[in-house]
Amino acid sequence: MLKGKTALVTGSTSGIGLGIAKALAAQGANIVLNGFGDVEGPKAEIAALGVQVTYHGADMSKPAEIAAMIEHAKTTFGSVDILVNNAGIQHVARVENFPIEKWDAIIAINMSSAFHATRLALPGMQAKNWGRIINVASVHGLVGSAEKSAYVAAKHGVVGLTKVTALENATTGVTCNAICPGWVLTPLVQKQVDAKAAAQGISNADATKQLLGEKEPSMQFTTPEELGALAVFFCSPAGDNIRGVAWNMDGGWTAQ
Ligand code: NAD
Repeated sequence: MLKGKTALVTGSTSGIGLGIAKALAAQGANIVLNGFGDVEGPKAEIAALGVQVTYHGADMSKPAEIAAMIEHAKTTFGSVDILVNNAGIQHVARVENFPIEKWDAIIAINMSSAFHATRLALPGMQAKNWGRIINVASVHGLVGSAEKSAYVAAKHGVVGLTKVTALENATTGVTCNAICPGWVLTPLVQKQVDAKAAAQGISNADATKQLLGEKEPSMQFTTPEELGALAVFFCSPAGDNIRGVAWNMDGGWTAQ
């Protein structure tokens, strides 16, 4: 379905981003990977799906590096047809104790990077009258949780940016939507499970049960594969007139 298209997925060396990149590659899209850590492993996983793959190591807190990454994508594959703004980090502390540098980093990586990548990718999509921008927000783009001020502020911001981008392109073939996952067991969440287990002197399994039980009626993690399938749906012809939604996939978290 996506043969001949190029998808750039930020923060795709791990977790949800890698899951979405693999799902888009399975549909034939060429992939631009981004993110830190192991690159060769994720690159090989994408190449095994029979598409072309390239990597750019832009730090998503740096607008000039984001611009260089978009240029790299265009030079390598000719265009960016699908942009998935996914890179993100977390830090947990009460507002009065929240380190200023962590606030600044979360706002830059989780929110402003989506603005920069979007503003730079949009003109190419508009020229072709086809494009998909998928912002990986969170349930925290819809509701709050204690000790996550920067994350919740950034994710609400991403949902707002999604709506405005969708509206500004509403008469075109370019759509913009947000995905709002609940708990997904990636390194970002594993750190929170480990911290809970250590703080309460309980096992990892009990900490996991507690984490899910506090928020997620299904008592199940959403998986990167499920989120990848939702991204593919947004890219399908059925997604042509889905504009500006914040689609939660959260085991019932926000239905409560
Ligand atoms: P993860 O830690 O597995 O992956 C994060 C990715 O972002 C990695 O590839 C990492 O290298 C990259 N990254 C981090 N800082 C970066 C930077 N400055 N520049 C470039 N890349 C950077 O985490 P994940 O859980 O897969 O998170 C992906 C997205 O999903 C994030 O935006 C997160 O907020 C969101 N999300 C996660 C969950 C969850 O439960 N895991 C729930 C809702 C939303």
